Amino acid sequence: MAVDSLRTHLIEELTDLLDAENQLTKALPKMAKSATSPALRSAFQRHLAETRGQITRLDRALRQLGEKPRRRTCEAMEGLLTEGEQVMHEAPAGALRDAVMITAAQKVEHYEMASYGTVRTYAQVLGEPGVARLLAQTLKEEKTADGKLTTIAKRSVNADAAEEWHAQSGEGALDKAGAWFGAAIGGASRRLTKGTRRAADSAGLARERAGVKPSRLRRTPSRKRAASKRSRARR
Ligand code: FE
Ligand code: ZN
Ligand code: FE
Ligand code: FE
Repeated sequence: MAVDSLRTHLIEELTDLLDAENQLTKALPKMAKSATSPALRSAFQRHLAETRGQITRLDRALRQLGEKPRRRTCEAMEGLLTEGEQVMHEAPAGALRDAVMITAAQKVEHYEMASYGTVRTYAQVLGEPGVARLLAQTLKEEKTADGKLTTIAKRSVNADAAEEWHAQSGEGALDKAGAWFGAAIGGASRRLTKGTRRAADSAGLARERAGVKPSRLRRTPSRKRAASKRSRARR
């Protein structure tokens, strides 16, 4: 459809959003299934339910404007989801994959926030307060979903993912050093390994100082959690 007026543009954008939300109802269950953090999984599940309500609102908005909902592909959402899924499959399950999914999901929420913010304003200036109200409700949900992802990331996932990396690089050094010490001096190796761990830890710390906030990484509870998770995975 040719965009010859702000009204046509509004209708095209709403039609585009309708497809974007439909794509999300297919992606969100997969994301929920792939999440390790229970908080992240339930956030995805809850947003799936909200997304279904948002589809209903878009249908109502289009009808209030005298339009029948049509099909059109939202290329932007297709791109965001394709890219997100690709990176997601490249990461092993756990905190790292959770972080990767949060990255992708926040990009999606921001795309939606930009879209709903603009269409809400167009509806207002075109004298469609009923439509504007529907879109404002969805905008609020998208902002809340985005904020929730930030909270989950800051509360656990980021620290756990950094912890995974920290343990990984630390243990790589430990395995090598442990094997060498073991071959050389047998029984004494366990005590020495402790010292090596300390050395690996401070090596990690030096890297943290260079880049990441140490306070997040030094949290003992998540370190313990990550360690027990790893030993469970080995069994
Ligand atoms: Fe949405
Ligand atoms: Zn689009
Ligand atoms: Fe870009
Ligand atoms: Fe959303």
